[in-house]
Amino acid sequence: MRDNVIHDVELSYDEIVDSLGETHSFKEYLDSCRNSYKNQSANGTLREEYENPVSLQFELTHKCNQRCLHCYNQSGMESNLKPDLPVARWKELAKEAGELGIFECTLSGGEPLLLGDGLFEIMDVLAGYDIYIRLITNGMLITQGLLDKLKKYRFKWLQVSIDGSRPELHDYIRGTDGAFRKAVSAANLVKINGFPLLVAHVVVKSNLDYVEEMIDTAYVLGAEAVIIAPFCYSGRAIINKEKLDMTPEEIADVFSRVSVKRKEYRKRMNVIPSLEEQAILQLNSVKANSSLVILPSGDVKIDCTMPFTIGSVSNSSIAEIWESVGKKVKDNEQVKEYLRSMKSSQDFLKPSFRNNVDKVYLKR
Ligand code: SF4
Repeated sequence: MRDNVIHDVELSYDEIVDSLGETHSFKEYLDSCRNSYKNQSANGTLREEYENPVSLQFELTHKCNQRCLHCYNQSGMESNLKPDLPVARWKELAKEAGELGIFECTLSGGEPLLLGDGLFEIMDVLAGYDIYIRLITNGMLITQGLLDKLKKYRFKWLQVSIDGSRPELHDYIRGTDGAFRKAVSAANLVKINGFPLLVAHVVVKSNLDYVEEMIDTAYVLGAEAVIIAPFCYSGRAIINKEKLDMTPEEIADVFSRVSVKRKEYRKRMNVIPSLEEQAILQLNSVKANSSLVILPSGDVKIDCTMPFTIGSVSNSSIAEIWESVGKKVKDNEQVKEYLRSMKSSQDFLKPSFRNNVDKVYLKR
């Protein structure tokens, strides 16, 4: 049995603003989630498991044309990595996803547009099953010609990452000169071509003073939503810790300013302040697993940051991995212990839990 308890968690800030613009203390919010789960558990509506995954993420490639300081999976560093799965295998996986009735598939990397025509071949298979696509890109390769070819697909979001409202902020974090100009022009093109534009912004030490300006920039670009997320200690963010680190007070201050902007933009653009990763893990810990992440190598994980590898599509189908481990993964003692222990952002730095730096193969 999985733990039906949301454990206490330390956040850098205490107040959150809901979609109606109401302010709550995080403690109140946590309690209301606990009560809701308790009621669902008591009246038998808390889902124990899903027959098939609801959503999948295909991390299509480790290759990337940027070198972001905070990259959670260290993309763009090809050495010491297993090679990416070939496009033909991704197409088989897309077909299997369709046959399993997957609702939504996130396509990410690395930079997924580096697959060129291969990306369209994979999306054609997904489109054949009416699967919603969420495409995550850094915008470097977005052109009018490319967007014309993307128009036939059903997108939940076309997500462009922008890590600063000014060139020097974005280009420093992304490790690439000229990246800001390309990201902004990509977001602009995405919008004027009628795609649902989501801007994703990661907050780190060097851009924290500019978060209001960033939200205003997203609005000017026509974003339907902007996600503001603090970086998480995973992958390259662990290696670049010194360059990224913010104090809890700084994080609290940023998110109180984001709350003000969330109210200001209510009904015009959804400003989504992402919780810190430890809170997301705790809140999700009581829910049945509903998704899988397939890495470029074919290894399968249960989410982007948790360290557990539960199989490989190099020698198993998605259905086999789901049946054998995926759907009941939160019953697993190692996973339960991990979730119980992740109480603060510093816990991500514990040697045995270094996400996307170390690998933990889950015992079945
Ligand atoms: S965060 Fe995205 S754009 Fe940046 S290096 Fe990683 S995969 Fe590439």
